[in-house]
Amino acid sequence: MTLSLLTVLCLIFVSGACIGSFLHVCIYRIPRNISIVFPGSACPACGHSLPFYVNIPILSFVVLKGRCLFCRHPISWQYVMVECITGMLAMMTYLRFGGTWEAIVWFAFAATLVVVSGIDLSFRIIPDRISIPGILIFGCLAWAVLDRPLTSIVSGVLAGGGILYGVALVYYLIRRTEGMGGGDIKLLAMIGAATGVTGVLFTLFAGSLAGTGAGIAAMVKNRQTDRQMQIPFGPFLSAGALVYLFFGDILIDWYFFQVLS
Ligand SMILES: [Zn+2]
Repeated sequence: MTLSLLTVLCLIFVSGACIGSFLHVCIYRIPRNISIVFPGSACPACGHSLPFYVNIPILSFVVLKGRCLFCRHPISWQYVMVECITGMLAMMTYLRFGGTWEAIVWFAFAATLVVVSGIDLSFRIIPDRISIPGILIFGCLAWAVLDRPLTSIVSGVLAGGGILYGVALVYYLIRRTEGMGGGDIKLLAMIGAATGVTGVLFTLFAGSLAGTGAGIAAMVKNRQTDRQMQIPFGPFLSAGALVYLFFGDILIDWYFFQVLS
């Protein structure tokens, strides 16, 4: 790795972390129905508005030792997590797609999934305000920027929405209770708009595998046998879609050429 690539990657990580800082604002404010633009950042404990120098991604958290400068109230770890994850995703998008328009679209897609996952983890909802425009926006971007044919986009949306709708319907008919939220259905439809049918199938497979693993781990840890235990599916679908985005080709090739032959 040349020094210049390293410099570029550092700059991309820092820019990504700054965008991550904004994504955390979205995660905090969208479910609470607060504008994401106004007012500026404020400490959730003392309400003191935060000047830019205490709002520098990651660095401020480290310098302030994780406490508000004004009231010393602990700052949530979520901030740093979201900033680091977004910075990493920005670097990975650059490494995978280079400095292209395609990379910008995929970074926007990844950023949307970060917001969706953050909200689902804290509130157990996936807002329609993100997923429904997301279907349209990523559908249009896939067509205009990624050069994907319209049929592939529409079939991706239908596969994403349809499969989970079917699962939810069967679950409801058997158990007479809702097992899967409508939010997951619309989220997978959005993922389908961006990645097509292959992306949907991969996402569903990887997401279910990871979700089941996490579910079993949680049950063992809490010694719970309650099968109704609610685990948000959105973060697992999002993670599945991101694995597809960055490693889908490699994993699918490996599966068909190594495992099946
Ligand atoms: Zn404070």
